[in-house]
Amino acid sequence: MQEDQLLYFREILTRQLDELRQEGSRTIIDLMAYENYATDPVDIAQIDSGREYTLRIRSRESRLINKIKESLADIENGTYGICTMCGRQISIARLHARPVARYCIACKRNMEATERVAGW
Ligand SMILES: [Zn+2]
Repeated sequence: MQEDQLLYFREILTRQLDELRQEGSRTIIDLMAYENYATDPVDIAQIDSGREYTLRIRSRESRLINKIKESLADIENGTYGICTMCGRQISIARLHARPVARYCIACKRNMEATERVAGW
């Protein structure tokens, strides 16, 4: 991949990472606010489902943060944009749509097909 494209994707990934980290600290503040309101059982039930929801979002965020970190490491190592599975170049269009993609579209489709057959 060309240098200016790498710089472009690094900027996008870094910005996404910053945004997610800001979201993450806000989520923790929300969780602490919930705790303080726990008074009657109805409230507590609502708080619990709110907390579950928040934690679910939070774990999705942390998975995405890890993916972004992997992609940034790939940029440093010069392996960004190369399919981890088959070693071919991932198309730029795919990387634009999904900068954290680590598999080319063919490998991704294969994996999804395998997952469906296995019943995951
Ligand atoms: Zn591939």
